[in-house]
Amino acid sequence: MPAAQAQTEAEPEARVTSNLFGQMTVSWEVARALAAMGYSAPTPIQETVIPLVRQAFDVVGQAQTGTGKTAAFGIPLVEAADPKSNSLQVLILTPTRELAVQVCAELTRLGQYRGIRAAAIYGGQAFGPQLDALHRGSQIVVATPGRLMDHLGRGNLRLDQARTVVLDEADQMLDIGFAPDIERILRQTPRSRQTLLFSATMPEPIKRLARRYMRDPQWVRAGGEARPVEQVEQVYYEVAERDKRFALRELLEDPQGVTQALIFRRTKAGVDDLVYDLKRRSYDVQGIHGDMTQPQRDAVMKLFRANRLRLLVATNLAARGLDISGISHVINYDMPSNVEEYVHRIGRTARMGKPGTAIILVSEWDVDTFDTILAHVGKELKLQRLAKLYA
Ligand code: AMP
Repeated sequence: MPAAQAQTEAEPEARVTSNLFGQMTVSWEVARALAAMGYSAPTPIQETVIPLVRQAFDVVGQAQTGTGKTAAFGIPLVEAADPKSNSLQVLILTPTRELAVQVCAELTRLGQYRGIRAAAIYGGQAFGPQLDALHRGSQIVVATPGRLMDHLGRGNLRLDQARTVVLDEADQMLDIGFAPDIERILRQTPRSRQTLLFSATMPEPIKRLARRYMRDPQWVRAGGEARPVEQVEQVYYEVAERDKRFALRELLEDPQGVTQALIFRRTKAGVDDLVYDLKRRSYDVQGIHGDMTQPQRDAVMKLFRANRLRLLVATNLAARGLDISGISHVINYDMPSNVEEYVHRIGRTARMGKPGTAIILVSEWDVDTFDTILAHVGKELKLQRLAKLYA
């Protein structure tokens, strides 16, 4: 006994003493990865989804980012993948490049002690490095549909060994217009595959996709339908359109308030304008939108993620599905165009139980859309006053 103890203590790094994840058994390699990642117990969606995936069910999961859905499919898929084979076994489709990078990083960490490799494939970056990653042999590929189609067209990879396909943020992929690509991709995978679909909302086109391409799927829901994340405090200010930039500055001055904010604008030009205005006033701010090159976008995201940037002004697309734990405020400078968009946006704060605030600036132009949002969200959305601007 003392000898065994001495041996344990001689180990250079912290030893994993149990292969339990909460009440759930996981492989030693994954237990070690989870310990390194600081995950000590499963989130509700993980508790439900992990056993279903292990039992080879198709699963439709209604879950927003922030619920732990990536590890919900990541843990069982990493455990089931065969590190000795270099063929593509798991294909994950995501709507945006940023999300592809994020999901790939999480799966790489989960699989690090099993010798599982994940590669990310997305547009806006040269084919070369992505090809290298593919040729090194990745059991898991995380891809945006458009770029994956390009690679398939060039014969760079094959999907005939894919055992599982994950459609992540499926509603967003359909919104962007990826439905035809997704269907073409699915038809290149084996009929016997397992299909997992995750989506924050469940509009009819998603249900149709599920009926068409999934076998007897199990429906799982984390939280209610398009309900905002519960810990988010939601407030709105009534402000004339031409006063919005003054309102924003007043909000940013609140000393106890905004530590890190994601600010949404409708258009790329709107992003550039606001960034210009705030920079001139010495705010620590950058913008992100689809007209920037991928290296530029990556650099901005990296700063923001590392909490070395206080304010990020973004269009919807640039911010989809992002999981950044430091965001204290989401500011809807421009009104989201519908309830689902609002729910997606505000889901960027209050991650994993941390507090967060979502703000809407409501102008004379926004009344109709705002009424719809108010009707959906109800009393949780509270009116506040701008003390200085409208003193
Ligand atoms: P996701 O919904 O997959 O975007 O995950 C949201 C955040 O929760 C990410 O920062 C994950 O790293 C984190 N996370 C996921 N599962 C757990 C867990 N079981 N314990 C602690 N953090 C987790």
